Order: sequence, then structure tokens, then C-alpha cells
Amino acid sequence: MNKTLKIVVIAGLILAVAAIILLKQRGKETDAPQGLSTPAVAAMPQTSGLPRLVDLGADKCIPCKMMAPILEELKTQYQGKLYVVFVDVWKNPNAGKQYGIQLIPTQIFYDATGKERFRHEGFFSKEDILAKWKEFGVDLSGAGSATPAFERLAPAKPDERPKESICYMCDGNINPKTLVTVQTDKGPVTLCGPHCYFIMYSCLTEDKTGFEKKVTVTDWAAGKPIPLSEAAFLYSEDEITGRPWIKAFAGREAALAERAASGGSILALAALQQKEFSHRCGFCDRACYPQDASEVIVEGAVYTWGCCSHCALGVAARTGKNIEVREKDRLTKQAIVVKTLDGKVASLEPGTAVAWFGQRKKPDGTWTSAGCFHQGFFTNADNLKKWVEQNPCETGRLISISQALADKMRLSADQIQKACKIGECAPK
Ligand SMILES: [Zn+2]
Ligand SMILES: [Zn+2]
Repeated sequence: MNKTLKIVVIAGLILAVAAIILLKQRGKETDAPQGLSTPAVAAMPQTSGLPRLVDLGADKCIPCKMMAPILEELKTQYQGKLYVVFVDVWKNPNAGKQYGIQLIPTQIFYDATGKERFRHEGFFSKEDILAKWKEFGVDLSGAGSATPAFERLAPAKPDERPKESICYMCDGNINPKTLVTVQTDKGPVTLCGPHCYFIMYSCLTEDKTGFEKKVTVTDWAAGKPIPLSEAAFLYSEDEITGRPWIKAFAGREAALAERAASGGSILALAALQQKEFSHRCGFCDRACYPQDASEVIVEGAVYTWGCCSHCALGVAARTGKNIEVREKDRLTKQAIVVKTLDGKVASLEPGTAVAWFGQRKKPDGTWTSAGCFHQGFFTNADNLKKWVEQNPCETGRLISISQALADKMRLSADQIQKACKIGECAPK
């Protein structure tokens, strides 16, 4: 180091020390808690008396990076109600000193008068930030466009379809050519096709030995019921989506004829069942098709599925790990990505995304989940409302995705094991 440079560096150090001493003195004068940011506050832009959240971090630290989308969301959703500031302390090392922080990220909460109320070190979820503000009397829940209250508790139109024409699992219309009937103690249960049968089978908790004997499928060619175990299945996949379709036949001859016309492969029950069970919901274990499911990535490495968007979030509860959920808006198919950290939403893309919690009233008047087929995520509340309008029989309410995750994180191990199982949360 040459002499001139040395002098400059030493002079710089002296100035820095002087600045710190000055900070300490000012801190004493105003009788503020240690590390209070009075000088920094003075340097902040005018906030016209808004509560302020200051996040001190850096663009390359991982928990700081996870804070970034949360800060963006808070900024846009609570514009005019909350002032959100990010300070990069690696680029502005002085700022870190001014705020007296020990590590990054640190979030500091200032009330509307500029008084520091609270500081938090490390990643802080949006949910926790909002809860903290509420503690200080700043209620942001009604602000912004993120979570407007919306619910529909009575169907817009009664479901007038005859019971036997409705699929017990998915509530879809039953095509008579693919009807599956299961005999139960409570009478016959009708399903729209073999896939819904396998979903049902995968979430039964009873002893399933010999269960196949209770099941008939429909011969695609003749329209007549045939025992499940005797059918030949023509299995193929949609050329564009890859989603499987299944047709049952009483005999191999009829299946071969249909194969000549429409392609596919002929499978016996055991082989079909293996295919149907090759993808399972990572939360409730139901058989699912990836084309219908949400993708779930556990700790950035293990891929699994959520048979519905709520089940997808439930993978975080079941595994106790951080997950990424890739779901599609039920109305527009636009992508929605949720990342969790320690059981909380760490980021949400887009920030306006919301969840529909499909619920139905039980005969005793209490509310229960309407089942996996009646849940969904939407990129915004307007899409959700449009979808609800288009589906007059759906009942439930809009909840935030943080709330949907929190509902799952509250479940005990026993409740998780029973989730979505028939007999535990029976549809209808
Ligand atoms: Zn169905
Ligand atoms: Zn599931």
C-alpha cells in the first residue's frame, strides 16, 4: 500500500469512527433503544405519516432473496397504507451501521410517528409481518386487493341431476358407456369411469381383500355391465395432453377391434391398476394423473403431486420440509407458484393469487371440505369469482394461500393420515 492511500484509508476510518460516536450520542440524546435508527429515519424519504417496514438485506443472501417477493407484494398490495423500504447493506454498508443491525435480513417496524416498534432477524413471512402490524394496531387485512372476503355458502342453482348420473368421486356427469358401479353396505355407488374407481380404491381405509368382486365396469361396445376382473381394458393417452383414457370391454376381440380404430394398448386389470397407481398425491395418497394434479417439489429435489391445490400445500405438513407448488389457475390455466419456508408461504407468484376453499354443509349443519375436486387456486380474486359463477353448484369461500397452508400445517399426524380417506371425510 502506498503512503497516500494509507493516509486516505486512515482518514476514512477516523471519519467512520466519528460517525459511529455521533450516532451513539444522538441515540442517547433521544433516549432511544439501542441501535435505534434516528439518523437513518431522518435520511428516509417523507412517508406522509405511514407505518414503515424497513428490510435490511443483500441481493445475494438466500433468506434475503426470499424476502424480496414478499416486500414487492406488500408494496403493491398496501400502497398508501404501508411504506416498504429495502436497504442493501452490502451495497450500502453504512446503512447497516446506521440501523445497528447484527445480521441480515433484519426487518424493522416503525409506526406512523416514526417510532421503532419491533425488529426481527432472519426470514419473516408475509403472514407474520401482517400479524405483527396487527399487534401494533395497524390492520392491513382489509387493504389492498389480496384477500377481499368472498364466499358462496348456498349453491346458485340446485343440482337437479339424478343421483345415479353423478360420479360419487368427482361429481361429474357419468357417460353410460364408462359407468363403474361399486356395491356397498349403503347401496350402489356410481362412478364416471375406471379412473374415478381407482381414485376411490386408493383412498379406502377398509380391508380391500376381494374388493374387485363388488365392482362392475361397462362394456364400451355393448353398454352392458361386466365384472371388473374379467374386463379387457384399452388404454391410451391423449396425443396433446398425454392424459390417459380407458375403455373397458367384455372380451379381447372387441378390445382389439376398438384398438384398430383408435389405437392404444390392451391391459388386464393388474397392469391397468399398476399404471393408475403410478402417480399418487403426496399428501393424501390418492391415485392421480399428472395432467390433473399440481406439481410439488420437495426441498428442490423430490417430485411429487398434489391431487388438488390444497393437498399440494399439505405436502409441506406431511413431510415437514420446504416445498414448491406449481399449480394452474382453475379458470385460465395460468401458472401459480408457491414456495414455502418453515411451514409458511415464502413467495407467491403472482402475488395476487388466492385459493378457493370448497366447503359443503353436512346434514348436521356443520361445514366440511367439499373434497379434492372442489378446490383450486386462482391468479386473482376476479378469476375465482368468474369460476364460481360458471359452476353454480360450488359452495365455499375465498381464502389466502397463506391461510390454506396454515390450515394444513395445523393438522396432526393422525389427521394427515386420515385426510381425504373415504369413511374419514366421505364425499356426500
Ligand atoms: Zn368421476
Ligand atoms: Zn390429495
